[in-house]
Amino acid sequence: MGLTRRTFLKAGTVGGSLALGFDLHEARAEMREFKISRTTETRSTCPYCAVSCGVIIHTLGDKAKNATASVVHVEGDPDHPINRGTLCPKGATLRDDINNPNRLTSPKVRRAGSDKWEAISWDDAIAQIAKHIKTTRDKCFVEKNAKGQVVNRNPGMAMIGGCTDTNEFNYLQWKFITALGIPYRDSQARV
Ligand code: SF4
Repeated sequence: MGLTRRTFLKAGTVGGSLALGFDLHEARAEMREFKISRTTETRSTCPYCAVSCGVIIHTLGDKAKNATASVVHVEGDPDHPINRGTLCPKGATLRDDINNPNRLTSPKVRRAGSDKWEAISWDDAIAQIAKHIKTTRDKCFVEKNAKGQVVNRNPGMAMIGGCTDTNEFNYLQWKFITALGIPYRDSQARV
């Protein structure tokens, strides 16, 4: 078979398994090793869908005080029982979402009457949430229902869990919600 322009280009691309007679598998494996050779690995869970695939996030940066860490690679966790190293195309884009400049990295509040979201510290956010919980609970708490039965419920609040919450976290969250008497609750218990 003669060598056409098309077969020549196909053989020569990095995507082909052979390039002009050279086996590229080893070279590709080396490239990958080089890319993550100085990174820190963090195990996490893909936040997108109910499958909850395990991921390894590779971060570059020596953790020195003035160094800015950057995520350079995200891949499926080969030791994870759900996905065993694989990721769907959506999960494979996680690195770009993490590095997206529009990603929210701090709590925000929209004050009464304002049309703008304002960034606040985590300490301020926790203090304000605690204040709102106390005010709402005091205002809405129902000790007995219309039949005089003790119900101790707080219908002024609802709670929803996050998609990467573990079973252990959801257990603690459920205890906390029950202590507050919150009847409306949901979680994405999948991890
Ligand atoms: S990698 Fe894909 S299948 Fe797995 S949790 Fe993420 S979105 Fe779902």
